[in-house]
Amino acid sequence: MAVPFRRTSKRTKRLRRTHFKLNVTGLVTCPNCGNMIKSHRVCPHCGYYDGKQVLVNGKYQTVAEVKKQEASGKKSTRKKTTKKVEEASENK
Ligand SMILES: [Zn+2]
Repeated sequence: MAVPFRRTSKRTKRLRRTHFKLNVTGLVTCPNCGNMIKSHRVCPHCGYYDGKQVLVNGKYQTVAEVKKQEASGKKSTRKKTTKKVEEASENK
């Protein structure tokens, strides 16, 4: 077994360890609010996914709610997203 000739100094040890760090992977900025979020997930801060509002007050909009909104004349931000909402809820 090889035996080190000198002990590693505090400085050398600390300099070596400056490169020990964790990489944050899979995080992207939300295009709507700019917070860091996991990619391919509904943004927990603003509730947007794929440019459409999916979460309202922390809850997923049901198809009935979306239809009700459309019927009441409000311009819904999402139209054909019911499938995506279901997918998103499964992923969560
Ligand atoms: Zn967001």
